[in-house]
Amino acid sequence: MLSQKLQKEILKNIENKKQTILFLNRRGYSTFVMCRECGYTVKCPNCDITLTYHMYGNKLKCHYCGYETFPAKTCPNCNSNKIKYFGTGTQKLEDEVKKIFPNASTIRMDIDTVSKKNGHEEILSKFKDENIDILIGTQMIAKGHHFPNVTLVRSSSSRYGTKYRRL
Ligand SMILES: [Zn+2]
Ligand SMILES: [Zn+2]
Repeated sequence: MLSQKLQKEILKNIENKKQTILFLNRRGYSTFVMCRECGYTVKCPNCDITLTYHMYGNKLKCHYCGYETFPAKTCPNCNSNKIKYFGTGTQKLEDEVKKIFPNASTIRMDIDTVSKKNGHEEILSKFKDENIDILIGTQMIAKGHHFPNVTLVRSSSSRYGTKYRRL
């Protein structure tokens, strides 16, 4: 998920005590679950949209109505065990960042971490005040906030490779 070039930039930021924001426009661990044998995807019984896997709590969730279910180990359609998680999300990105930069501090901000009252402001102040190295979040973090110490913001909303800009 992170290109060599981006990894180098982040490392430079960490060494210079500068902060980095990585944002994705998807949340959850993976975007969807699919059977590689028959192509079955797990959908919400109420909304007919694909469920998103959340590693925290090991659940599949519907982002529209809040329906939750546990992920099946075998395909409910063809019984094969070739269930695979596709796509990516903020949780997965955070895991990857922690693996690549084990000594860096990270904080994640998305609907799941800010759902409690003032969660949003709390996370942002924490990021600023504690000078956390990397903020990982969904698109909403970019809205209307100024971070004086941030030098690198990356958006992975493009599928044409890594795109990032310096502030
Ligand atoms: Zn639903
Ligand atoms: Zn199947």
